[in-house]
Amino acid sequence: MPRFGFLSFVLYWISCGLFDAQVLPSSEQESVLPYARQITAALCSPSFDGRGYVNSGCNRAGNYLLEEFKRIGLLPFQGRNTQAFFLEVNTFPSQCAVRSGHKTLQPGVDYLVHPSSGGYKGKLKLIPMNAAEILAYSGGSFNAPREGIVFMPSKGLSRDSLKLVRTKLEKIAETERGVVEITTEKLTWSVSPRAFRFPYLQRYDTSLTTPPKHLFLNIQSEIQAKVVVQNCFGLVPSVEPSDSLILVCAHYDHLGRMGKDTYFPGANDNASGVAMMLSLARELQQNPLQHHSVLFVAFAGEEIGLEGSFAMVQAPWLALRKISMVLNLDILGSGEEGITVVNGSIFPKYYQQLVQINDALKAVPVVKSRGKAANSDHFPFSEKGVPALFVYTMGPNKNYHDIHDTYQNLSFNRFEQLFEVFLEFLKRF
Ligand SMILES: [Zn+2]
Repeated sequence: MPRFGFLSFVLYWISCGLFDAQVLPSSEQESVLPYARQITAALCSPSFDGRGYVNSGCNRAGNYLLEEFKRIGLLPFQGRNTQAFFLEVNTFPSQCAVRSGHKTLQPGVDYLVHPSSGGYKGKLKLIPMNAAEILAYSGGSFNAPREGIVFMPSKGLSRDSLKLVRTKLEKIAETERGVVEITTEKLTWSVSPRAFRFPYLQRYDTSLTTPPKHLFLNIQSEIQAKVVVQNCFGLVPSVEPSDSLILVCAHYDHLGRMGKDTYFPGANDNASGVAMMLSLARELQQNPLQHHSVLFVAFAGEEIGLEGSFAMVQAPWLALRKISMVLNLDILGSGEEGITVVNGSIFPKYYQQLVQINDALKAVPVVKSRGKAANSDHFPFSEKGVPALFVYTMGPNKNYHDIHDTYQNLSFNRFEQLFEVFLEFLKRF
């Protein structure tokens, strides 16, 4: 017989028919995963356009979450359900097509447009340049407006040199001329608040021996100068009167669309975290904490630079000193290889609690600790001196910021177990 944790022991009893299902320690157990799957699938569906800025995908996802907060029974926080703020963002709302000879390239698979890329329509003649030539390039060497630079990294090029070359290529696309970068690395997209004057294309190709002489581009880009987006709030008050507030948060925005035919579903990042947050909200609404109110926050604007959480820590109506803890959930869809706690080494007491609870529940194989990192919405809070942890899962799913981060590719392997860990962590607080 395998080693038993408490949960598996109970499950073993049930499977043996010795226990009636009603005596499960947490009655919510059975319904957690179907609910989380339903939320994740909805957020990842094409109807939310990758929760970006084309077709107001992010805002429509926010409205969907506000409805869900209401349906669960969460209350407004200090009279507000939302906090609106402005963003400037470069978007690709319609045409995003690339042709190499007679071959139409597949967006997201064969190429990405740089998040700051400008638009372009027509044939782009390409002049090959190596790393040294690009780094030495001072502009003005060609005059034809339809000539761009193509860069194909040589085998021995170091990561640091490639970084320098990319920075220079960005500068060239910003002011000078179009850029095509051939790459053999996994394509990873992002979202940017600024726009170059010229196109910048990242072409994934492992088979090329010589760079292409030209490409046909039809890329339309559009800067949205003042998009209004919103953080969404839902409160579960403590049973006894208390000043203490715990924040459980997850960002719901993602990268949106790269043209009318391609969107980034953002299943792991971060429909999964929102699903975990809502699962916890649903449970705590039924069984609130005795001494702490819990504020659930769905953040917008994370992918463009933690804009939602920065907006919240600056809000005059928020008393930061009343926040006892921030638990930020981002990338919760796997867990086969454990979880990592960012800020774990800065707040060792809370990290140790998570380790102990995980040991008792045998939820994931390992709970790793990291130091400070500006990689999600916990960061603006811990920078202001509020204890804030960011938990993400690790596993075989490496689909990060690409078109393959789909609902279908999520394993939800340790989702229910992690739900129990977070619930216990909050209850013990
Ligand atoms: Zn994320």
